[in-house]
Amino acid sequence: MLEKTKQYINGQWVESHSNETIDVINPATEEVFGKIPKGNAQDVEDAVNAADSVYLEFRNSSIEYRKNLLNDIVKEYENRKDVLVKAMTLELGVPVTASKNVQYEMGLAHFKAARDALDTLSFRERRGNNIIIKEAIGVSGLITPWNFPTNQTSLKLAGAFAAGSTVVLKPSEETPFSAIILAEIFDKVGVPAGVFNLINGDGMSVGNPISENKKIRMMSFTGSGNTGSKIMEIASKDFKKVSLELGGKSPYVVLEDADLDKAADAAVHQAVDNSGQVCIAGSRVIIPESIKEEFTAKVKEKMAGIHIGDPQNMNVEMGPVINAKQYNQIQKFIEIGIEEGATLELGGTGKPEGLETGYFVQPTIFSNVDNNMTIAQEEIFGPVMSIITYSDLDEAIKIANDTKYGLAGYVYGKDIEALQHVATSLEAGVIEINGAPRSWDLPFGGYKQSGIGREWGDYGIEEFLEIKSISGYFQ
Ligand code: NAD
Repeated sequence: MLEKTKQYINGQWVESHSNETIDVINPATEEVFGKIPKGNAQDVEDAVNAADSVYLEFRNSSIEYRKNLLNDIVKEYENRKDVLVKAMTLELGVPVTASKNVQYEMGLAHFKAARDALDTLSFRERRGNNIIIKEAIGVSGLITPWNFPTNQTSLKLAGAFAAGSTVVLKPSEETPFSAIILAEIFDKVGVPAGVFNLINGDGMSVGNPISENKKIRMMSFTGSGNTGSKIMEIASKDFKKVSLELGGKSPYVVLEDADLDKAADAAVHQAVDNSGQVCIAGSRVIIPESIKEEFTAKVKEKMAGIHIGDPQNMNVEMGPVINAKQYNQIQKFIEIGIEEGATLELGGTGKPEGLETGYFVQPTIFSNVDNNMTIAQEEIFGPVMSIITYSDLDEAIKIANDTKYGLAGYVYGKDIEALQHVATSLEAGVIEINGAPRSWDLPFGGYKQSGIGREWGDYGIEEFLEIKSISGYFQ
């Protein structure tokens, strides 16, 4: 049993003021394997006070100092690779190969990107006799979800540290151990006491007191729209800045001239990677009517071949989903898809054969989906693909944008003009043409109900900065 019941406040591991704990469950076995504190408002108060007490000192630290700090974090993060990979496989149920090649790498990449962005980001700009200064916003509350444990935490932490903002982090109670390892990394490299504070607990016990705390100047949240809206409402009472990364229901547009084999392969990965628990998943696959039969046959064959099972197994491509609640929610969406008249091509309700223990879901494909259907409009956060057809490109773009979300969008094909036309017409913040890998210095964030603000690299640092203009600075 992994028992980590202390909080990290002011550079020390200290007892929580609460005696309550939260069980952490391995989603592949449904067994409790760890315990964390169910922190409380007093823990949050102590953490915020610690962060506030060193805020000015950290804000005024040199860029060189913060760059070196990020560099030390990068090195120590690399030293802790095995333990991070293991923790994420246990707490999230992500297959060990993806834990190593995707989850671990993403966290690392954000610290590197923030470090490198400090080479070019300008904190001072002269305009005539005047100056514009960008400086850290102050104590920031960071609240993160479970689907990419080191990615979601690291991208916020890297931005805040680079900016010079001090933080109180509350990671998801489902995946707290990778955040605890990050705290150990920061402790080891000597992140100054008070700059980083970690309070474990759930949304009501810890998340809420963070949003309510008057000394916090900014809330950076990633998670569901419901929670984001509550945080924004509370933050509005004292006009805290908010940065929100929320859900998505992203279109994956295939052009008539696309290499269907490659496009089908990528579409399957959009659906099943991380068991579909990806905010930018291209789960609405929008294809020309003319290729419907061929494309559907290809995705069916490829998805049926996905190796599901024990995430510790090196050959497994898809593990369980995070918990019973998520499992049940996905089942409900599959039932609704069938009820609303979509054609179930693969998968369906119930667990995959032979995987009765663990929150395993069958990879599922629906065709003949109308964009008005629930499965085309709501974020399922599970391995469920909806195939929608179009007759011309204008219709494809219309369908793609007909959603309350606007996080990501994908387009696959050969005609460069058509690819660029679709890419620039999509109402979303994160667009990918032909699966081009995302560079870590590109901004990440959503339009519409997918969020407010941008993260990653220099854009992520700017989120944690205030802007001051001084006229007459130069006489
Ligand atoms: P969630 O909103 O339930 O929880 C996210 C975090 O908020 C957790 O740490 C949770 O403890 C905390 N929380 C819950 N209630 C709170 C409250 N009242 N006040 C303060 N904090 C509270 O989301 P989740 O289930 O962990 O994550 C899944 C959702 O996150 C999906 O909707 C997904 O699309 C979204 N997501 C978005 C992005 C993105 O970058 N846009 C990335 C990953 C996940």
